[in-house]
Amino acid sequence: MSLAPNSCPALVLNADYQPLSYFPLSTWSWKDALKAVFLDRVNVVSEYNQIVRSPSIEFKLPSVVSLKDYIPLPEKAAFTRFNVFLRDKFICQYCTNTFKVEELTFDHVLPRSRGGTTMWENVVTCCRSCNTQKGNKTLQKLGLKLKKQPHIPSNYELKEIGRMFPPNFLHQSWNDFLYWDSELEP
Ligand SMILES: [Zn+2]
Repeated sequence: MSLAPNSCPALVLNADYQPLSYFPLSTWSWKDALKAVFLDRVNVVSEYNQIVRSPSIEFKLPSVVSLKDYIPLPEKAAFTRFNVFLRDKFICQYCTNTFKVEELTFDHVLPRSRGGTTMWENVVTCCRSCNTQKGNKTLQKLGLKLKKQPHIPSNYELKEIGRMFPPNFLHQSWNDFLYWDSELEP
């Protein structure tokens, strides 16, 4: 089967052959991947069978590239809504059900109206229904328990959690670098 070049993204690995990120998975469009090849910034690790031609030359599209220069992962994770969801594995920390990103919001464990601040240790992933029920009440008042005490995650921890959520598109040449089925370390 022949794929259009636009459905041939390249998996981008760091110089240690680990994906730059798992979730979202680090990929480039075929144009960006070829550009990086010409600029000598990456090694081509694996290729698609798809070929693109210019009048003078033809290339196989890269399916996996690795950076020539290692990019260190900052230890501190950015405090973003998405990273809060990722830390909590998209599980509402009150009803313990799993939701899609668009069905989630975050909740201040100690409500802001009671002096709670917006920080890793006071913010949890929450479904809309639990969020409405909780309102500005405290956990004690509602008899609610958190699934897990919120903590500050490291980028390494978030990356490991991201491995549990494979993207929709996976080229078979990517499997060697992703290991979606492997167990996470405790
Ligand atoms: Zn809930």
